[in-house]
Order: sequence, then structure tokens, then C-alpha cells
Amino acid sequence: MKELPGNRSLLFLKKRKKAVLGTASAVLAAVSIAAGTAIVPSDFEVPVMLANGEIITPPWYVTVEGERVALVDSEEDAREAVKLAADHYKNEETVNIEIEEQTSTAEMDLENGDEKPEILTPEEAAAEITAKQELTVKTTEVVTEKEPVEFKKVTKKTDKLYVGQRKVKQKGSEGLKEVTKEVTKENGETIEENLIYEAVLKEPQTRIVLSGTKRQEEDAFTAAADVKQEGSGELTAPVSSMNVTSGFGPRWGRTHLGVDLGMPSGAPISAADAGTVIFTGYSGSYGNLVKVDHGNGMITYYAHCSRVLAEQGQAVERGEVIAEVGSTGNSTGPHLHFEVRMNGENVDPMNYF
Ligand SMILES: [Zn+2]
Repeated sequence: MKELPGNRSLLFLKKRKKAVLGTASAVLAAVSIAAGTAIVPSDFEVPVMLANGEIITPPWYVTVEGERVALVDSEEDAREAVKLAADHYKNEETVNIEIEEQTSTAEMDLENGDEKPEILTPEEAAAEITAKQELTVKTTEVVTEKEPVEFKKVTKKTDKLYVGQRKVKQKGSEGLKEVTKEVTKENGETIEENLIYEAVLKEPQTRIVLSGTKRQEEDAFTAAADVKQEGSGELTAPVSSMNVTSGFGPRWGRTHLGVDLGMPSGAPISAADAGTVIFTGYSGSYGNLVKVDHGNGMITYYAHCSRVLAEQGQAVERGEVIAEVGSTGNSTGPHLHFEVRMNGENVDPMNYF
């Protein structure tokens, strides 16, 4: 048999070393030996012969809070395994890393004739420690990232638009900020975030929506005394064909006060009944407008005209041409917007044909 280094009695010595990681004293752990023998160096490993005849120095355990969690070749490998298990949660932004538990190493009590134990590499041991969550690894990361800044939304009232009408004055856009924060994680799960620094790179732009307050135009018709001619109360088509493209009543959140009659630009518009022209001229969303008072409380409106032919105060016959179809004012294409008002109230013109 090959002579082993040191006193042979050491082979039968049951010893146990326990070292706390990161302390120099661990390396200097005392070894109790039989009386009369020399002091054994601290890094001296006592080999044992296994049942299969293999001679090895005893492996080391990684212990967590005293529990043996993995077996590796040496004390150095045990330390390495713990370091690798902690480093598993490390990234470029990690500034601090701590293990919550008390970790240590302990040499295995291996005796001559024992079966060979299963020994892991530091990498395998670290993977097992991580998989079984044997350790609580607390990391602190300093993270800098860009984040969007929400924009404000405001609604401003305007008398330039009618009630129910809305218009986007400014679209609004997100801003951008750079945020630096300290993120504390436990085994990769964020448990706390603290803002360190924030800088706005781009200011958000407020979204501004205009909301109309303007009421539909009040009737500005003149007194009944001015009416020179009265109508029959029954209307004739103001354009050559009654092609209704939009009827009377609710439309786009407000009430359509008349009917839209699709006609090409320049087509003649005639008075729907005999009456007196009480208004000609441009009137806001109506564009070029003609109003005819037919007496008995009835007034008709002819809007979006390209040209007005009648004059204010003029008496007109039923069917007499007073204007031409156009698309002036708030209009998306040539048509006649035709209204009938009875005693100031808008009514459905289609009830009078
Ligand atoms: Zn209309």
C-alpha cells in the first residue's frame, strides 16, 4: 500500500470543519488531532479510500443556514458555487448583491470503505441552488430608461362653432423622459423601486379640443308689416328635382334644421311659394343665404348658394328663380340646404309639399 502523507492515524480521525464564507478565520479552522502528533496545515486534506478502491480527499458541502444543499469537490468549489448562484441574478446594472441567508462550507464525513458520493461541479451546484431557491439573493440595480410622458387633454369653449360641434385645435403628443431609478430585486423579482433622477427630454403637447357654444342663428326676419306678398301655405320644389341627400332631424349629434337637396352647382333655385325676400347675404355656416317670408308665420331658407339673384325686400312669385345652387358656407359639395320655419320653429319641409 502506498504511504499516505502525514500520520496514518489521521486517516481514521473523524474531523469536522466549518468555515464561514468570506472570513479569513475559516481557512484557519482548527483540526483536532490525536495527542503527540504535529500540527497539521490548515489546507491539508486527509484522503480516504472508497469502497471501489479510489482514493479521494473528502468533498465539501455548501450549507445554507446549516442545511447541506450541495456537494462539491473542495471548499474552494463550495465558495465558487455560492458565488455563481448569487451571480445568476447579476446584470450590467447591478451595483450591489447580497445573500440574505448565512452560507458556509462543511467537509463531508467520509470514511474508508464508503461508497463514492455524488459530487457536483460548482456550476451544477449553483444551478441546483438557484432552481431550488435555496438562497435569497437581493440585488440592487441602477436602471436608466426612457419613458413616455402622457399629454394633458383640455376642452376649450368657442363661439365660433355651433353647440355640439367639436374641432381638434391641437392633436396632442406624448413627451419623453429619462428616468434613473434604483431597483431592488429578490431572486430577480422586483420588490422596490426608488426614483433617483428624472429629466424631461421632450415636453408633451397638450391636446386641445374646441367645443362650440354658438346657438343656431336666431331669426332676424322683419316685421309682418314688411311682407308684401303671402303664400298659399303649400310649397313647390325649390329645385328641379327633389333629390333629398340628407333629411330633417338629428344628424351627427345635432339637429339638421332642413333638408339637403343634391343639385349641381349653378342650378336654379326658386322660391317654394310666393312671398317677400327678407334676407340676402352671407350668413356663417349657411354661406350665401336667401330667406323668404310667406306670411302666416312661414319663412323658407335657401342656403349654400353660389349666387343670389333676388334682392332683399323683393316680392317673389311661387317658382320664381331667386338664387343658384352652390357650396358656400359649411358645405361639403354643391346642394341646396332648404329650411322651413313656422313661427320661428324649424319644421320638416317635406310635410309641406
Ligand atoms: Zn343642410
